[in-house]
Amino acid sequence: MSHYRGRFAPTPSGPLHFGSLVAALASFLDARHAGGEWLLRIEDIDPPRCPADAADQIRHQLEAFGLHWDGPTLYQNGRDGTYQAALERLVRLGLAYPCSCSRKQWRDYPIYPGWCREGVREPGKPVAWRLRSDLGLRPVVWKDRLFGEQRFDPASLGDVVLRRKDDLWAYQLAVVVDDAEQEVGDVVRGFDLLDNTPWQRQLQQALDFPEPRYLHLPLILGKDGQKLSKQNLAPALPTTDDAVRPLLHAALTALDQAPPADLAGAPVAEQLAWGVLHWEASRIRPEPHRTITGGAPPS
Ligand code: GLU
Repeated sequence: MSHYRGRFAPTPSGPLHFGSLVAALASFLDARHAGGEWLLRIEDIDPPRCPADAADQIRHQLEAFGLHWDGPTLYQNGRDGTYQAALERLVRLGLAYPCSCSRKQWRDYPIYPGWCREGVREPGKPVAWRLRSDLGLRPVVWKDRLFGEQRFDPASLGDVVLRRKDDLWAYQLAVVVDDAEQEVGDVVRGFDLLDNTPWQRQLQQALDFPEPRYLHLPLILGKDGQKLSKQNLAPALPTTDDAVRPLLHAALTALDQAPPADLAGAPVAEQLAWGVLHWEASRIRPEPHRTITGGAPPS
């Protein structure tokens, strides 16, 4: 088996919250239990959405929870040349095309109907770049480590956007190029990204990249049943040791690892050592969502 390499890849649109801690912790424990590497990639391809200090805050939060990553942090911002090269390769393969259509124009269709595939409909207007999904890309099938076999028909996926009309790179292209370049073999992340994975698999196929394994995790909901997110102002993770300890324990519990109760007050390094030793991804119940009740996570 090849060497395990995983990663945590937050978008720095704000500080990490309890839901991000659960995702970071799971990918960290999965990597360390396998004796593998764990990388940090900051997905700041959309600068207007990313406050200047958020990436540093995230790094500080991860360190406070003892989640130390290997090697330098990779920042997506500034990697235009790399993403451009991937887009050009797709263009040469006849698999990417410019598209002037607006969402409004195709609002009566479930997916973009591919009007610009044979040429831009409205030349001179700003264009996005899309992947052609109608040219022999195979059906997308993979086995999620938690949710089992996933199967998508390319006809239902549509032609995913690779570069946006405002000239920003789309998440789908950047994540696939970076996972390949960083030789990430294992992706562990929230269930909200499971339905993005088929586009990523298509792009891996189109670019002839290796396909990582995927483990999607139950998404953490707050007591109000809403996904914890920066948008709904989930509280930022604290960084003081006395606040960090019970939260780390709560995150291990949210991952169904059943840590002993008295570990809750233990130092971070001790809790993580326990987590690495006892980590079993198969203990996680395969539920799309998980509502956190009871004391530890802030609400
Ligand atoms: N940057 C994405 C996010 O913060 C995660 C990307 C990934 O794990 O593939 O939601």
